Amino acid sequence: MTDGPIAAAADGVIARVDFNACAILLDDGGLLAATVRGRLMGRRKALGNTVVVGDRVGWESSGETIAIVAVEPRRNTFARRASGRLPAEQVVAANLDQVLVVASVADPEFSAGFTDRVLCQAEHAGLPARLLLNKIDLMSSVHAEARALQEAYAAAGYPVHAVSARAGTGIDELRRVCRGRRSLFIGHSGVGKSTLLNALVPGLDLLVGRVNEKTGKGRHTTTAAILVRPEPGFELIDTPGMRAFGLWGIESRTLEQAWIEFRPFLGACRFADCAHAAEPGCAVRAAVDAGQIAARRFASFHKLREELEQESTTSAPRRAGR
Ligand code: GDP
Ligand code: ZN
Repeated sequence: MTDGPIAAAADGVIARVDFNACAILLDDGGLLAATVRGRLMGRRKALGNTVVVGDRVGWESSGETIAIVAVEPRRNTFARRASGRLPAEQVVAANLDQVLVVASVADPEFSAGFTDRVLCQAEHAGLPARLLLNKIDLMSSVHAEARALQEAYAAAGYPVHAVSARAGTGIDELRRVCRGRRSLFIGHSGVGKSTLLNALVPGLDLLVGRVNEKTGKGRHTTTAAILVRPEPGFELIDTPGMRAFGLWGIESRTLEQAWIEFRPFLGACRFADCAHAAEPGCAVRAAVDAGQIAARRFASFHKLREELEQESTTSAPRRAGR
């Protein structure tokens, strides 16, 4: 047997991956720059999803070089559709405890499309998710829109944290739910994720800088996911601010499974293949009418479902042609 995991000299967690180099975070907080043993790479030239942030890896050193020789089986992965014309999976990180979607109530305006896509992808990965609504200092406490957002997501079953990274509101509570866990932070660019993470972890820039040095990247470039551990057991993974989030492994047909508050009603519609649109006897729509499902989440579901349907019809001819 040469293909099973092999006993390695030591182990650690992947903190960052670049084209062909990684940073390994050791249990004692030390960092190592490493390459990946050819056998793990197969015929690929780039690392791709072979080794991702959060992977527990075994490594061996021979003289100057450190090589990753084994990757432990992942207990979960959070993926997205890679940017690029052809459909491809990009595993963002592995072995997570929770996903935190960072959004803002204003400036930029709350994006239900982005938020709900990330929440769906977390559900697809089997991961609990939280919604962080940042910039609440821009709203008065009675602002109807901010309150409606909080209510809609809380009713769906998501913990909602209304915070202000700038004023420091809600940051202690956020730190409490992140301690002892490995959390993935994802946000649309401009929502204040960097400001928030710096409030959450004073000195974060230094930690990020150390990890970046290991793979030779400039200190202030955030082009890839990066894992830092401010204290034992408290790990956070920052991702670059994104303009869009493409779903992976979720189709228009299966989207309803990822809308967590639909769950109790699925299977109760009159038609087994109910699209929860205009069909008579739709249990999901009845739940919306009865106020058990937030109308804005229902509307967002249909918008996303349509988008997924369009994506599948436009990519079908390409698939057939190959
Ligand atoms: P990122 O792209 O998500 O990392 O966003 P940044 O952290 O760079 O913040 C984008 C802008 O939002 C900056 O001008 C921040 O000063 C501002 N910002 C961040 N957090 C808050 C907040 O809680 N309230 C307000 N009013 N502005 C904030
Ligand atoms: Zn239905």
